[in-house]
Amino acid sequence: MKHVLGFECISCRKSVAYRPDRYTCPDCGGNLDVVYDYAAVGAHFSRHDLTTHPDATIRRWLPLLPIQDAESLPPLDIGGTPLYHARQLGERLGLSQLYLKDDGRNPTASFKDRASAVVVAVAREAGVQVITAASSGNAGAALAACAAAAQMKSVIFVPHTAPKAKIAQLLLFGARVLAVNGTYDQAFDLCLEASRLYGWYNRNTGHNPFTREGKKTCSLEIAEQMGFQVPDKVVVAVGDGNIISGLWKGFRDLLALRWIDHLPQLIGVQAAGSAPLVTAWEQNAPIHEVDAHTIADSISVGLPRDGQAALRAVRETNGRFVTVSDEEILEAMRLLPRYGAVFAEPAGATGFAGLMRLCQQKAVGPTERVVVVVTGNGLKDVDTAVRASGQPQVLEPTVAALRKIFG
Ligand SMILES: *Cc1c(COP(=O)(O)O)cnc(C)c1O
Ligand SMILES: [Zn+2]
Repeated sequence: MKHVLGFECISCRKSVAYRPDRYTCPDCGGNLDVVYDYAAVGAHFSRHDLTTHPDATIRRWLPLLPIQDAESLPPLDIGGTPLYHARQLGERLGLSQLYLKDDGRNPTASFKDRASAVVVAVAREAGVQVITAASSGNAGAALAACAAAAQMKSVIFVPHTAPKAKIAQLLLFGARVLAVNGTYDQAFDLCLEASRLYGWYNRNTGHNPFTREGKKTCSLEIAEQMGFQVPDKVVVAVGDGNIISGLWKGFRDLLALRWIDHLPQLIGVQAAGSAPLVTAWEQNAPIHEVDAHTIADSISVGLPRDGQAALRAVRETNGRFVTVSDEEILEAMRLLPRYGAVFAEPAGATGFAGLMRLCQQKAVGPTERVVVVVTGNGLKDVDTAVRASGQPQVLEPTVAALRKIFG
């Protein structure tokens, strides 16, 4: 591919030759980052081209993706999600410039569609028949949908505790679903074994270098939606750390093209019961696996699989990590729809919970431009939504009953 120079290892920074079926660094086992020839990309792609591009989806970023042909992407409209100026919600936190990027608006209702679409396109161009992934639910649903649209087979490993709606989604998109009697981390390792044993192409988050390439399209969109005036801060929930590393990659691409002049601070939010990256960042220490427990199942991760890249994303943008409790996540699930009109699953609301924490600590200025990425829709996990919402008032179908309530 003309515009791809190769890979660079996220950990040891060595250059590694490009192959679509290469996953990790042959020297140190670190995750790989796709390296582009930005001079070549910039020669044929300008901000002006975007103003006349007919397609709002991730297809508009083809020159910055490791794909030859837009037709390799599954025929689904992924990305192009709204960025709302959330005035009411911002007011409650004393922020005049709060924006919500609603990625629950993707076809399978989570951010993961961006990654799965790009991985499926790469796989198609490499002639792959079967793709597999381990997932807490969303990455799998995204892969199942993209594979269905591209007429490929998918095999998805999920922890058996995944929310019911997510498992139903997988099955209905026609994936072969294996519910593992264990954690997401155990499903992840088993899925890697299955790939080796059966020769299936592996989409595991972070392990597959193209998940980050898909996820970066979110920051490309944020930059464009803000007229290439980058926000001060971008806040997002972190599990494996692949979304935050994808956001970092997208902004780095634009900086290399000189479409923006600096990187925004990236702020990663982890649930208190699943916060190995917060600990590693605070103590400037290696990442240690934890026993993960949180209601936010999408970020319930013991060993973050793109952790090194996530740490670099935060350090190299002068950002930070923050933890939130499950109670704070539930509170964010109430405030986001009520004052921001966006309904989020627990992990989807976690970025906003992190911003509330930072505001309590006075770590955000009142006129800073802050983007919170809402990563998944509330209907993904109805049981937890009900836990956050409580029950409605019940009444008999009579005027007398109405009068009793309203007089
Ligand atoms: C996967 C996911 C995240 C976290 O992304 P990582 O790449 O694992 O850090 C956050 N929110 C939702 C809804 C997700 O599905
Ligand atoms: Zn390496």
